[in-house]
Amino acid sequence: KLVSKKWKAKPTSVDLGDNIFIKDGEMAIITGPCSIETEDQIRKVVAHCVENDIKMMRGGVFKPRSSPYAFRGLGIDGLKLWHELASAAGIKIVTEVMQTSQIEEMYPYVDVYQVGARNSQNFNLLDELGKVDKAVMIKRGISGTIEELLQSAEYVFSGGNEKLILCERGIRTYERASRNTLDLNAIPILKAKSHLPVIVDPSHGIGIRAYVPQMALAGVMSGADGIIYESHEVPEKAYSDGQQTLDFAQSARLAAWIRESFAMR
Ligand code: PEP
Ligand code: MN
Repeated sequence: KLVSKKWKAKPTSVDLGDNIFIKDGEMAIITGPCSIETEDQIRKVVAHCVENDIKMMRGGVFKPRSSPYAFRGLGIDGLKLWHELASAAGIKIVTEVMQTSQIEEMYPYVDVYQVGARNSQNFNLLDELGKVDKAVMIKRGISGTIEELLQSAEYVFSGGNEKLILCERGIRTYERASRNTLDLNAIPILKAKSHLPVIVDPSHGIGIRAYVPQMALAGVMSGADGIIYESHEVPEKAYSDGQQTLDFAQSARLAAWIRESFAMR
């Protein structure tokens, strides 16, 4: 496989421009709300990122919701507004693309296209993202194996797009005490098998706000190249995933802990 270390020994460095990278040897911190909600909310999260020297912001404008009646995102207009505010602050945007028709309309406003867990094996979407010259982060499928995640990455890489990032976000197991089971095993295994950078998402991985920092730090010590987690000014009022979202004080503390842990690794 082209994404394997056997094919390419040197770790892949994903360059987002302005000296911002996701790569082996660095620790990317990506935070923001589950959903982009309002202009005021975007401004507050951008300010939080700036204050904490966080260069990448996450948020969904197209939301894959389990219920069709739940909030499904602000769509392309939300992305345009977000891009205006984030780029002015020097912050890169990580956001989910749900279908091929969105790739082009999102293109001017996105820095990393996120492929969600539910679309991890949407091979049409992966094929089309292989033709794009912007970074793609693929999340592991809801019940996806490590091998399946690598095969999904292979679709994009073999299509010609080498700006690729893998993301462990927890898998569905028999355990119901947590939302998902964050598979920490996947991190050293993916790092050994592939030259691609690996990011950990502890928010969806455990789904419980109070335990997100522990799992984030476990991810750092497992060898991850970055952590992506959800934050919001008032998590209880978030339109989605509030139960696993950190407030800004918790987020600021976690960002500092991630950096300290990485420095000790
Ligand atoms: C998200 O990042 O908010 C999200 C929907 O993640 P996942 O696809 O991992 O469930
Ligand atoms: Mn979410």
